[in-house]
Amino acid sequence: MPVIEEKPQDEKLFRIRHSLAHVMAQAVQTLYPGTKLGFGPAIDDGFYYDFILPKPLSDAELPAIEGKMREIIAAAQTFSHEDLPLDAALTRIEGQMGEPFKAEYARELANKKGHREISFYTNGGFVDMCEGPHVSKTSDIPADAFKLHSLAGAYWRGDERNAMMTRIYGYAFNTKAELDEYVTAVEQARQRDHRKLGAELRIYAIRDEIGKGLPLWLPNGAAIRHELEKLAHEMEFRAGYKKVATPHITKRGIYETSGHIPLYEDGMYPPMVLEEEGRGAGGPEEAYYLKPMNCPHHHMVFASEKHSYRDLPLRYTEYGSVYRFERAGALQGLTRVRGMTMNDAHIYVTPEQLKEEFQAVMQLHERYYSLFGLTNYFMRLSLWDPADPKRGSKYVDDPENWALSERLVTEALEEMGANYKLSPGEAAFYGPKVDFQFVTVTGREFTLSTNQLDFAVPSRFGLAYTDKDGKEKTPYCIHRAPMGTHERFIAFLIEHFGGAFPTWLAPVQVVIIPVSDKFLAYGKKIEALLREDLVRVELDTSSATMGKKIQEGATRKVPILLVVGGKEETEQTVTVRRYGIKEQKAMPLAGFVEMLSQEIKERRHV
Ligand code: ATP
Ligand code: ZN
Ligand code: ZN
Repeated sequence: MPVIEEKPQDEKLFRIRHSLAHVMAQAVQTLYPGTKLGFGPAIDDGFYYDFILPKPLSDAELPAIEGKMREIIAAAQTFSHEDLPLDAALTRIEGQMGEPFKAEYARELANKKGHREISFYTNGGFVDMCEGPHVSKTSDIPADAFKLHSLAGAYWRGDERNAMMTRIYGYAFNTKAELDEYVTAVEQARQRDHRKLGAELRIYAIRDEIGKGLPLWLPNGAAIRHELEKLAHEMEFRAGYKKVATPHITKRGIYETSGHIPLYEDGMYPPMVLEEEGRGAGGPEEAYYLKPMNCPHHHMVFASEKHSYRDLPLRYTEYGSVYRFERAGALQGLTRVRGMTMNDAHIYVTPEQLKEEFQAVMQLHERYYSLFGLTNYFMRLSLWDPADPKRGSKYVDDPENWALSERLVTEALEEMGANYKLSPGEAAFYGPKVDFQFVTVTGREFTLSTNQLDFAVPSRFGLAYTDKDGKEKTPYCIHRAPMGTHERFIAFLIEHFGGAFPTWLAPVQVVIIPVSDKFLAYGKKIEALLREDLVRVELDTSSATMGKKIQEGATRKVPILLVVGGKEETEQTVTVRRYGIKEQKAMPLAGFVEMLSQEIKERRHV
């Protein structure tokens, strides 16, 4: 059960970053006298400091601050340490230093944490209240390995009732080479950001007229969704899943049975109460909700037919649309939305089938990921926490079933030789789960999909099958969504491929570029041929030059451009240019059609 290694802390780099925060504050106060200081910590890729400035600051002023910082570094000022009793410390902070925010914090240290003394560091006449550690003198900071890169607003202590401060961020590393490498990586990540590419490649749009977090899928995005659904259909059909379809709105009662109300009500859109005659019966019990998940509906599908042990495992699948009232501040592009469509399925099993089916689901996840070439992920096994004082409200209180299901899931993982991290206390309320954690190009970790075991909810819904002995028994349920939601998964794929999708997934797979209008007819013939084969093809009939058309195809990251002119028409060939490859290749038309259809069918990444 090896786990991902944590990066060892670089103590020297921490000192450099932390010292740079001091030096930046010193520079800012020199350049803008009267500036008040907030906090200024070292962070993962550098440092920041929060300020109240006498005037607003713009990016254009960052180089001047950097320049001042380099002067301070060159001056080789030593950091000296001093502890003062609280009274003397406050006199200094409020008098000589004139720092109200620091004074507030010093009082808090004394009152809440019992500090009798306050620690100060001084360099070159600049005093900061701080516990260290620092470099010994400013010239120990590599002057060419840091860079101020952005400004942001930040409330004092992160509380919106407090003053708004200006935060200046800096990157800092041990060497200039490391800094340059990091800056390049950040820039590349920015180029791949799904919000940027999603707009440029016309994949989705979010409009005020529709609502926050409710993306519209433009034709290009809808094409990607279609391919993912087709993939899921094929994989799941072969794995014995059965498709179901369920409505988007549902009466209140089912969410009382499932336990979502009252627990999860905040995460749901408010109810529609149908009071008027002719619009349904009155009363809040007749309230309808937009469904936040598909589980209760699938349970009701299960309940609508009689089942024997011979029918199990029974696997219901649906690309189900759900709505969650996510906090406005948490919404982000496609990765966190309010309206989403989930690659969902619920599998009903006997206890004996549980482990094997759980493994089959894990293998299905892996098949999806290897198909997309996704390797930068790990699994996280979330367990319950029997010692949690709030365990009664957080988890179904059934220690025996927790023990059994956690044992089965752990065995399932171990037998597969999976690498995973343990996350005690993070289980779903109905059972343990395995989350698939991915790291984006910007280095952010998030859950892409999940595989969950549920030993509790089926009994709440009274689900049953007839066992070998003729007795009615409650099935276990596996909830799984290997491709998560279209929204989060496609956001991830956009960044993963940098918008240059493999042919099978590309919104437009082929653009035909006639050398001149004379060859439009030949172009049309190819277009018709490919469209008949269900290829997403376009014929470029614009009056732009050929060079422009090829460039346009590259900007749109179309995987295949076909250039056709006199030679091609006479010989019934096409000249194939692939995205990102310089050489072009002439091929017989029939051979190209055959090759393309194989490439798409096998979902080959060329
Ligand atoms: P999270 O912790 O990210 O809010 P969750 O645990 O509530 O997610 P599940 O109910 O397990 O999510 O949903 C399954 C999958 O749906 C998640 O793994 C994720 O990929 C996706 N998902 C969940 N919430 C959102 C959202 N608001 N926007 C886009 N995708 C989402
Ligand atoms: Zn310090
Ligand atoms: Zn579910």
